[in-house]
Amino acid sequence: TALSRQTLDRLDSRVAVPRYDRSAVTPGIVHFGVGGFHRAHQAMYLDALMNIGEALDWGIIGVGVMPGDRRMQEALAAQDYLYTLVTKHADGHYEPRVIGSIVGYLFAPDDPEAVIEQMADPAIRIVSLTVTEGGYNFHHVTGEYDLTNAQVRHDLEHPQAPQTTFGLIVEALRRRRERGVAPFTVMSCDNIQGNGEVAQRMFTAHARALDIELGAWVEREVSFPNSMVDRITPVTTAADIEELQRRFEIEDRWPVVCEPFTQWVLEDHFTQGRPAFETVDVQVVDDVMPYELMKLRLLNASHQALTYFGYLAGYRYAHEVCQDPLFVDFLLDYMNIEATPTLRPVPGVDLDAYKRTLIERFANPEIRDTLARLCAESSDRIPKWLLPVIREQLARDGDIQRSAAVVASWARYAEGADEQGRPIEIVDRLKEPLMTIARDNRQWPTAFIENRQLFGDLADDERFRRAYLNALESLHARGARATVEALVAR
Ligand code: NAD
Repeated sequence: TALSRQTLDRLDSRVAVPRYDRSAVTPGIVHFGVGGFHRAHQAMYLDALMNIGEALDWGIIGVGVMPGDRRMQEALAAQDYLYTLVTKHADGHYEPRVIGSIVGYLFAPDDPEAVIEQMADPAIRIVSLTVTEGGYNFHHVTGEYDLTNAQVRHDLEHPQAPQTTFGLIVEALRRRRERGVAPFTVMSCDNIQGNGEVAQRMFTAHARALDIELGAWVEREVSFPNSMVDRITPVTTAADIEELQRRFEIEDRWPVVCEPFTQWVLEDHFTQGRPAFETVDVQVVDDVMPYELMKLRLLNASHQALTYFGYLAGYRYAHEVCQDPLFVDFLLDYMNIEATPTLRPVPGVDLDAYKRTLIERFANPEIRDTLARLCAESSDRIPKWLLPVIREQLARDGDIQRSAAVVASWARYAEGADEQGRPIEIVDRLKEPLMTIARDNRQWPTAFIENRQLFGDLADDERFRRAYLNALESLHARGARATVEALVAR
């Protein structure tokens, strides 16, 4: 059955469908970057609220600004903006649910004016974003808004016909200000530390470059709440589409698949109100930072702790590593002994349960998260996720053996050949310089960590050096598995 409004009541009875009258849903949110994650997360929370008769005035209008988004516009429009969200449980069971909270979609390159006027409508009280890290246009080195970007320059010269997220949103804010309409809240849901603060800096910089007063007004009047979001949502594959058809007879042009776990921690900082998210288990808090640290140092850093060792030991998927008891012990030791002492109190979270759940999530074979994906862009990830743990542990004289060994596993991986001598495809913006240094690992074992751009002065710390050198030596002499065994036995 092809999914659409007309076919909803004919679907397989195992498929959950919206329990509300969708014609009664009116737009309250404009969302940029309607990809897999938004459709598995924010749109799902709104659909859950609508199912209990709430938030019917917070329907979502999607916006795409990238050429590739035309496909999303076409897929959604063909099925009345409905799509299937398939939760994949670890035991192989699929839980499909049709989501109805998206009620329209605008492809900005076709009609930027329509996008601006949609956002200028006083009924729109939130503009939200999942536009990836690259969507924030910050300069890699300075972290500041990059005014040299060609599209940004275009938008500054043609503010009435913009192409970027920044140009479109700032023009809508300018019109609201001119018309005496209070600004909407800009809610970033991207995986960026301090995502609200980053968004505030970027949008304010764009507005300021157009008009100093507009910039000051955006900085003063617009809210940019921080949030922490979590739900593993892999790219939808052709096999996912076929499987949905085979198991449930739904023809969906672009379903979304995800894991059962979901989390959203959000700062309560909205100029024009918000849906009652707390009713559907969103944690609404004053300060997201402790939750963010928990996620970065437990979830993201643990991915790093399992991926290079796992790859070198011959595994290719995260679930394979996390079904191996030796690696599970290693991860739990890293989390309990090294990461947890660096966290701040996290109200409302049971950390032991959180860690156990993490291992279960990583071990879900249905998600098929590849180690190749987790091993990519290490030079952006290790410095942000793992090195802060090492620095804090050193400062408080805590244990760092495992974290230092993870750094060594990265250095060993960057040599570009596995333990059988097969080549490894390194994906990293610093691939060339890193591989060149790593090839010297045996002759000059501290070369990798003496790269100050990534490691600062960590190599000067005797404790870190020793732990790193021991692990690297063991990786060369005995291999990944034996190195992990020795660390677990300690
Ligand atoms: P996706 O590729 O399915 O969708 C990304 C969307 O962002 C697309 O609509 C794309 O056009 C848009 N986009 C990309 N670059 C842009 C730019 N420069 N300007 C405007 N729009 C741009 O990816 P996804 O899985 O939906 O993930 C999106 C983001 O969500 C991630 O980068 C991350 O910050 C966050 N997130 C994802 C996951 C996950 O597991 N997938 C989990 C937590 C958070």
